[in-house]
Amino acid sequence: MPRRSRPSENPEKLRDELVTLLNNFSSLRTSELRIRVLALVPAFHKLRDLGSSMMPIGTPENAKDRVLAYFQLYPQKVIHGDELMVISGIGEWSRRLRELRKQDGWWIYSGNTFADIREAAKAARDTLELAEIEVLDIRPEQYVLTRNEQDREAAHRWHILNGIRKREGSVTTKILEYLRANAGKEVTGEELRYLARDKSEWARRVRELRTEAGWPIATKSSGLPELRIGVYVLERDQQSEEHDRHIPDPIRVKVLVRDNFSCVECGWNRSMVSPEDPRRFLELHHLAQHKNKGQNTVENLITLCNVHHDGRHRS
Ligand SMILES: [Zn+2]
Ligand SMILES: [Zn+2]
Repeated sequence: MPRRSRPSENPEKLRDELVTLLNNFSSLRTSELRIRVLALVPAFHKLRDLGSSMMPIGTPENAKDRVLAYFQLYPQKVIHGDELMVISGIGEWSRRLRELRKQDGWWIYSGNTFADIREAAKAARDTLELAEIEVLDIRPEQYVLTRNEQDREAAHRWHILNGIRKREGSVTTKILEYLRANAGKEVTGEELRYLARDKSEWARRVRELRTEAGWPIATKSSGLPELRIGVYVLERDQQSEEHDRHIPDPIRVKVLVRDNFSCVECGWNRSMVSPEDPRRFLELHHLAQHKNKGQNTVENLITLCNVHHDGRHRS
């Protein structure tokens, strides 16, 4: 039966009580084991009370809100699970954390998710993505609040996510289905990992969908620098033209930087997105097409908005 801690108590008083308990405990040295165990129980409880009493005055009393409040005090910082154990004052803090991350739409990433992305980037020798991940230096039992606001569509997405997760089918099929259900929107690596039932292959599958099947899934290191690490956007619900696939990310990024992240025909860039404008994203176009021996080189590629890219292919 979980015991509720009392975070509103005075930390000084709690510490004194704990010291008294421990002093009394040391005098039990010769007692029977069970007597010593029972004598230590109140000290355990007191230690928890002390931990949860340290949060600032006005922090909500329930453990889940306290865990969230702690993350919000340190956004973008790597937080160890043990810290959450201390300030939550409860044993099953990890369940509250899971609720915050999954149901409630807080962008709290675990080290496991970043480890999967790192492994997939290593296998693909993607130095760009590796460099992004190394910045964080996060281990499996650690967590980061990567965006300090709640995802407003969390409940809706959680519903879609669970619907797809329950179905039969490969990890690749499920990931693609989820991305297409959220085309144009940011999807987190945490969601994709959950979809894959925590199998680490999810990060490789996302990469294959992008680099081999030609689904325009943008990431921070593949041309959408304003995205956070571990966030994916299916820019258009349509596979790329065969000849536009397989452009290596380092080349892609060089072309985008050279063209100032703007369409070379009209100057459109992502900051100009508006509901009535059919221009929605940027794509790379081969000047000499693959079938005419055009290469994936910076010189043979240009940046176009989707409208001008469509235009080039029609003419
Ligand atoms: Zn254009
Ligand atoms: Zn093209």
